[in-house]
Amino acid sequence: MGIIKTKNLVYNYIKRDEEEKIEEVSEAVKNVSLDIKEGEFVAILGHNGSGKSTLAKHMNALLLPTEGTIWIGGRDSLDEDNLWNIRQTAGMVFQNPDNQIIASVVEEDVGFGPENIGVPTDEIWKRVDECLKAVGMSAYRTHSPNRLSGGQKQRVAIAGVMAMEPKCIVLDEPTAMLDPNGRREVIRTVLELNEKKGITVILITHYMEEVIHADRIIVMDEGEIVMEGVPEEIFSRVEELKKYRLDVPQVTELAYELRKKGVPMRPCILTVEEFVTEIMDTYRKHSE
Ligand code: ADP
Ligand code: MG
Repeated sequence: MGIIKTKNLVYNYIKRDEEEKIEEVSEAVKNVSLDIKEGEFVAILGHNGSGKSTLAKHMNALLLPTEGTIWIGGRDSLDEDNLWNIRQTAGMVFQNPDNQIIASVVEEDVGFGPENIGVPTDEIWKRVDECLKAVGMSAYRTHSPNRLSGGQKQRVAIAGVMAMEPKCIVLDEPTAMLDPNGRREVIRTVLELNEKKGITVILITHYMEEVIHADRIIVMDEGEIVMEGVPEEIFSRVEELKKYRLDVPQVTELAYELRKKGVPMRPCILTVEEFVTEIMDTYRKHSE
């Protein structure tokens, strides 16, 4: 069993009236089965309302299944005795960094989590050092988080989650509120955590260019997993991606159209630079 496994997971948001009678049922996650291995970098793509956040919130037992099961580190979230362990195994990073930063000094913020669970002081400082270094924020340790850019704040939030030493980090659209620079900083940081520290990463986003380095991509639509595969494979299925209302970058689509016409092109082209390189290569090979 992987570090996160779900079997026929269903989650319904249920709205009740004053008499507790069911007024409305919204089926946010429908019958999702997945298995994420330790050390894997899995990206979850999907249009707004496709159920990504609902699924993510099951990964550290913020929500419990309506039907089916989720195991985190092999532990069933429906068993209350597992809650502590589950929260230790999977840390969450959310969209808005402002809601995740608590302390008025960066280093205190990062140390807050471990302090809360009774980690000894020496050990806390060691973790604060390491985690700030890992996210490239050591120079800001005595700064006030208020003065940081969005990307820097989000990296501090990630360091705070890391300081709890989870085996797995779930990031729910961590770049949605950031500018392109901030987005790049955060994605680079996440990649490093995965590659250098072996932390399992589950990255939820609707930016296709952020998932190109993932080991596996899962596409959700209307509460279901509708596509699954390595990035090369997913990105070569342009028509399907568009059907699920994902924004396929124009160059990706152009490369796809050219490939259909027989021009040799990699399917994973997401930027104009990559496109130009690819065209130049083809041209060079052709004229040799
Ligand atoms: P995503 O993160 O992909 O945008 P969500 O998991 O937030 O999707 O939402 C999935 C579905 O559940 C949507 O139809 C949404 O309207 C509904 N939903 C989300 N949160 C709530 C809530 N607190 N109460 C009722 N319905 C909700
Ligand atoms: Mg969401």
